[in-house]
Amino acid sequence: MVSRVIPVDPFDLVIFGGTGDLAQRKILPALFRRHCAGQLTGAERIIGAARTELSSTEYRTIVAEALRKHAGSKACGGGALEAFLEQVSYVALDAKGEVGWTALSDQLRPVEQAPVRVFYFSVAPGLFGPLAERVQRYGLANADTRIVVEKPFGRDLASARDLNRTLAGHFDEGQIYRIDHYLGKETVQNLMAVRFGNMLFEPLWNSQYVDHIQITVAETVGVEGREEYYERAGAMRDMMQNHLMQLLCLIAMEPPAKFDPDAVRDEKLKVIRALDPVEPHHIVRGQYQARLDPEAPHPSYRGLVNNPRSTTESYVALKAHISNWRWAGTPFYLRTGKRLVNRSSVINVMFKDAPHSIFGAEAGRHANHLKIRLQPNEGITLSVTIKEPGQGGMRLVDVPLDMSFAEALGPEGGDPPDAYERLIMDVVRGNQTLFMRGDEVEAAWAWTDPLIAGWKSRGDVPKPYESGSTGPGDADLLMRRDGREWRGINP
Ligand code: NAP
Repeated sequence: MVSRVIPVDPFDLVIFGGTGDLAQRKILPALFRRHCAGQLTGAERIIGAARTELSSTEYRTIVAEALRKHAGSKACGGGALEAFLEQVSYVALDAKGEVGWTALSDQLRPVEQAPVRVFYFSVAPGLFGPLAERVQRYGLANADTRIVVEKPFGRDLASARDLNRTLAGHFDEGQIYRIDHYLGKETVQNLMAVRFGNMLFEPLWNSQYVDHIQITVAETVGVEGREEYYERAGAMRDMMQNHLMQLLCLIAMEPPAKFDPDAVRDEKLKVIRALDPVEPHHIVRGQYQARLDPEAPHPSYRGLVNNPRSTTESYVALKAHISNWRWAGTPFYLRTGKRLVNRSSVINVMFKDAPHSIFGAEAGRHANHLKIRLQPNEGITLSVTIKEPGQGGMRLVDVPLDMSFAEALGPEGGDPPDAYERLIMDVVRGNQTLFMRGDEVEAAWAWTDPLIAGWKSRGDVPKPYESGSTGPGDADLLMRRDGREWRGINP
């Protein structure tokens, strides 16, 4: 199966923060890989912008180095790098000053040559307002201008509202692309294809047949290099409010009438608004301890952030309920953490037991379960109960029906584009389906804020957990109290 590459319209893309980590590691490599894949026409202009004084030639050297490091095995040869770099230039400017803006304006082409203009705000959120205001004041925006903003989108409802208001003062909602890179993952979109493209699952996708759903996003890395940001954010703000919330929405939403940005986002918003407040005893916070193993020592969270009294969580698990007809009575267990045993993002849909076992108690309890692997090894496994082969009566076993996307799509299909590649191409095409709308982000904060405020008012301290483990024991208790258990955190 060969994947189709449909070229996009020529565009001018300005990366504010073009010298920063995200631009070097993700944005520029994503553009380069799309260039290699033949999706760019060769008539693009990619303009890095930041305060550092650099010539375009110096910037190209930095970009070339970043691409060699980060574009990965998917990068192509044969002069592709040189051709790509010819489209790259640089402007030194200050988001909060007036220097450099006219030079930027001079580098942008008239709309007839580059119909699409994208401004990627790969800078701290405090600069979104000054940038948006200057893009308009210097006449850089046209009707087809899009702006891309990175997470974190606020740190609570009030700050997210402020950001939304600021951006809305300069751009229409239809021009604002709030990135959550989880939504660009192949399997996350496949969630919608599996649910709404097949007759098989949807009739069972409700509280009558689904016992509960588990969503796990586990990381093996700690907070190295992001200490200052993470200490102010914690797992709830950094992961739960956005990535896990988005996964929850896609798993739980009603079928939209069509696969159209607002139809999809309307349904996601309804899920967030139907979430009940979480009871304090249905949340567990954790913080990782030092790993003392002489072979692989690792500092504790508190040691790393240099704050022996830190109460920031590096792990959070909770039980959520969605109060609507489809899901009343089916709990959703969500957990995410750092320095866990494996890197694994998985959704497990646990179906109920058959209502009556005709095989008797000795056959044991068997229930179907659908495992959706987001990373690594993207794919879907459905466990089905069959008779254990051989003599000796009717013994039942669960076997996996496994679909690995890498295998299913075959070597000719090539690796699927990574999340940033897909999302940036969607921005150029003007498709907002995989981007968060302002009201969605605000609704997610409205649900999260009281949980964080509750910890503060109760003086809650996260439970310690061993670095390299599956998280704090209390998270297991959260499940066991309900007669359930977490699926393993496997790669
Ligand atoms: P970074 O490495 O600190 O880069 C910041 C960039 O902004 C630099 O290019 C910097 O260049 C530029 N900058 C700072 N002040 C400026 C100003 N006044 N005017 C113009 N440019 C200015 O940060 P980053 O890691 O790339 O992150 C950028 C944004 O993406 C942040 O909001 C971050 O939270 C978000 N994000 C990052 C990642 C990641 O993996 N890095 C992941 C998700 C989200 P100069 O100093 O030369 O001006």
